[in-house]
Amino acid sequence: MPSLHLSRKAILFLRQAVIDFYAHQARSLPWRQKRSVYHTLISEMMLQQTQVKTVVPYFERWIRRFPDLESLAQADEVEVLGLWEGLGYYRRASALHEIAQIIRRQGHLPQTVGDWEKLPGIGRYTAAAIASFSQDTPVAVMDGNILRVLLRFGNIQRAFDGQAQALSYLRPLAERCLDSPRHALYNEGLMELGALICLPQHPQCLLCPLRSHCRAHLHATAESIPRFKIPSYRKASKARGLFFHRDRLLLSPMGIPSKPTALIWEFPEIPIPFSPKLLPPIFTGRRSIGLTRFTEKFHILKVDERTPIPSDGRWFSAAELKQIPLSGPHRRWLPKLREIVREEGGPSAPALSLQSGR
Ligand code: SF4
Repeated sequence: MPSLHLSRKAILFLRQAVIDFYAHQARSLPWRQKRSVYHTLISEMMLQQTQVKTVVPYFERWIRRFPDLESLAQADEVEVLGLWEGLGYYRRASALHEIAQIIRRQGHLPQTVGDWEKLPGIGRYTAAAIASFSQDTPVAVMDGNILRVLLRFGNIQRAFDGQAQALSYLRPLAERCLDSPRHALYNEGLMELGALICLPQHPQCLLCPLRSHCRAHLHATAESIPRFKIPSYRKASKARGLFFHRDRLLLSPMGIPSKPTALIWEFPEIPIPFSPKLLPPIFTGRRSIGLTRFTEKFHILKVDERTPIPSDGRWFSAAELKQIPLSGPHRRWLPKLREIVREEGGPSAPALSLQSGR
């Protein structure tokens, strides 16, 4: 697929307008106060799939507890995951912990985009962002915001199979547009413009410093760009059990025990052969993981000799539950579950009388 072409004049205009915009309108964010490799690494990992306003308090709390790579490398993984609780995609937290330990063993920071990409959880975007923002490496950083701005600037209306295809289409242009001496300002400015002005819906073209040269603005097509072929979502459902026994509640590790998410806990799934014997669910929650949309139905289960207990389950008291990382949706649903269990006069309502968060 041939790449988008922009004239030299348009590229020079783009660079200057983006850098001026960043100089005057960039948000004051905690990881921008004192740029360092460590702050950039933490913020970029947290920002994957997560909005800035959600990340800010997590970042501040993280830096207070783990101010540098050494303190993170020495930390216990349970505490690392506990600080991440609620941000979702817990593999990012485990990857950060592992990265800190790898760098400590190697005795030096990765120096190139390729070196960063070899570390767990670091893809092309994150590697380029760390290298450009904190190691003065002139490399084009490409995320969804930058993609949207450039596709609109060039009025590219073709439909892409997905973001990966659009990124590879744009990469040659993004590299040509890069302002090498001021690459960090340009990269951050383009991302900021996409986050604040060139919004996915309702782009603020009248406030945009690029509008005089933006082809999508000139053709009134901005809202229809970028175009992606509709992904096919999969539906799935799960039955979850509220197992109570002597004021304790049973939880299972999320994912496969050998994987990093094993240290995040959830209400256990009920084995399929047992499902037909269940009482009706007391609560239904919905969550998405990747392209799968899950419906989760919660059932109260009294524990007796006929109840199949998940083999990987562990019993937790109310006090212990406050200390362990619980998956985001299950922590969010806890107040509702507590309310319903109380109303139903469940077998051990006190076990759910917990703080719903930290
Ligand atoms: S003029 Fe509008 S469409 Fe073009 S870059 Fe600016 S906000 Fe986006």
